Amino acid sequence: MSQSEKLYEGKAKILYTTADPEILLTVYKDDATAFNAQKRGQIQGKGAINCQITAALFEWLGSQNILTHYIDCPEPNQMRVKAVTIVPIEVVVRNIAAGSLCRQTGLPEGKILASPLVEYYYKNDELGDPLLTRDRIFLLNLVDPQRLPEIDNMARKINQNLQSFFDQCDITLVDFKLEFGIDAQENLLLADEISPDTCRLWDKHETDPQAKIMDKDRFRKDLGQVETAYQKVQQRVLARLKQWR
Ligand code: UDP
Repeated sequence: MSQSEKLYEGKAKILYTTADPEILLTVYKDDATAFNAQKRGQIQGKGAINCQITAALFEWLGSQNILTHYIDCPEPNQMRVKAVTIVPIEVVVRNIAAGSLCRQTGLPEGKILASPLVEYYYKNDELGDPLLTRDRIFLLNLVDPQRLPEIDNMARKINQNLQSFFDQCDITLVDFKLEFGIDAQENLLLADEISPDTCRLWDKHETDPQAKIMDKDRFRKDLGQVETAYQKVQQRVLARLKQWR
């Protein structure tokens, strides 16, 4: 990793420059945090697992004409990505009610939504990532107004593709978080990661409400078997990608 400089260290990843200014290197860490970093821990092997799951899903989405920042993985826990300016909005897509949607609206957990819900949160740890409205997004100048419909459409298209991909892995995609970036040519690209850290994933054939959880909720709720659940997701996703290839 010569000529590299640490650009940024987040809760789950470290970003480095490379010799090529258009390419950055993301190193995925085993560190786990929840509740805005109030709960901290380590999940053995998580960095490599999340990196490999993200790479597989980005490769699949790329084949479905969705632009992503993914280039390749020089090591199991390292991903080379196109340099982008990250839009400071966390886009959450929900198919089934869970988490903050239930806490804030009273909807019962597990309720299937009539159509996918796309929500925007301010990517700002100090403020605790608050829910945004369209007008607040424009008030704060978080993104060019014409980009918001583009982000919304892309998030919905990603959801359709991921739902069918995970379904073929016998996994229900409950909800997930996306981040977008804009490259030097002004293209909107899917960025960051898609992994059990950023999705709610339920085992399709498991009826027990705790046993079915295959994502970070196992860590958040101290359910144990976190590594095993992440490994299972990785195995199913990679097997599905192999079949498709
Ligand atoms: N999520 C995420 N990062 C965040 C907040 C949420 O990856 O900073 C993901 C989370 O894992 C879940 C989805 O976005 O898959 C919706 O999360 P929710 O708003 O329900 O928040 P939570 O219940 O996790 O506080």
